Amino acid sequence: MKHNRLLVPLLVPVQALLPILGSIPVQALLPSLWRGVPSRPVSVYTSDVCVLHEPGRPSLAGYTHPEQPARLKRLLTALLRVHTRAHLNRLNDAFARARLFRKAKLDSDTIASPGSRAAVLRAAGLVVRAVDDLLGAEAAGNGSASRRAFVMVRPPGHHAERGSPQGFCFVNNVLVGDVETRRVAGMLITFRRPNLRRRVAILDFDVHHGNGDADIAEPDPTRLYVSSHEVPNFPGTGEERGATGRHRTILSAPLRSSSGSAEFRRAWRDELLPAVRAFQPEAIFVSAGFDAHAEDPLSSCRLSDADFAWITAEVAKIGRGALPIISVLEGGYNVERLDRSVRAHVKALIDA
Ligand SMILES: [Zn+2]
Repeated sequence: MKHNRLLVPLLVPVQALLPILGSIPVQALLPSLWRGVPSRPVSVYTSDVCVLHEPGRPSLAGYTHPEQPARLKRLLTALLRVHTRAHLNRLNDAFARARLFRKAKLDSDTIASPGSRAAVLRAAGLVVRAVDDLLGAEAAGNGSASRRAFVMVRPPGHHAERGSPQGFCFVNNVLVGDVETRRVAGMLITFRRPNLRRRVAILDFDVHHGNGDADIAEPDPTRLYVSSHEVPNFPGTGEERGATGRHRTILSAPLRSSSGSAEFRRAWRDELLPAVRAFQPEAIFVSAGFDAHAEDPLSSCRLSDADFAWITAEVAKIGRGALPIISVLEGGYNVERLDRSVRAHVKALIDA
């Protein structure tokens, strides 16, 4: 039993990650807050395949063998805090079909290939890793660690709703990171910052409305989602200017077709950034899409790299520049231009 108690702190930090990892080995930095044990990096490995081993059977009195699948199943359910079971089953089915037939369509433009499963799982897993590194360092008392991260992954995630993959997106990477933030914040509340309120702001400057971010964030008043996006454009949501949702925490600033720097900066300066400051977030996620660029094929907006640098610098100033910022790549489809836009964004994260 002594060993079981020691296992608890090793397993809990990866609960948010386990269901999306499948059989992929995980590197998770686990700040050891367990009874003063010094912090050490620990690698955790798991697989949902292990649930298939069934030495007993279900009965009215419970399972007929103590070494039962439920032991691991409980640990593998945390992703259900972001997506529905039906959504995850649908993804698994598509990934299996893609391995057999090379392609599996979830909708007309969300298409799985044989490599999709690994890419999708790793993309969300890397956001979790970034959260662990940034917030875990604070939980472990390392105040000099990095407070900003850019997670450069694909496929993107901000169109993936709780129960629906769409718009190139399978799993909502940012909201998976948000769940992990709340887990680490729980440790901070317990050990270092008892007044932490776990308020998270998600800022989205992708040219498309992040219907998935909004859908998953909306029920929780401790999540604020703000977005500038072109209207009309995919996915057809977020067309109402101002705050919506039952807690008025979903804020849209629609941009007309052909909007440029002036309209974009005005929307953020006058509408979105003041709302974020008033919300007083304790952590910021950025759904960083660069498809509002003037040379992007999927929009008619006319932003430049300087606009991406500007909005990044403005975001970095929130909370006197001290907030953890986890920026995650969303759109940006001009392969000749994307690197310059991303460079401007990352440089501003470093300099601001
Ligand atoms: Zn986009």
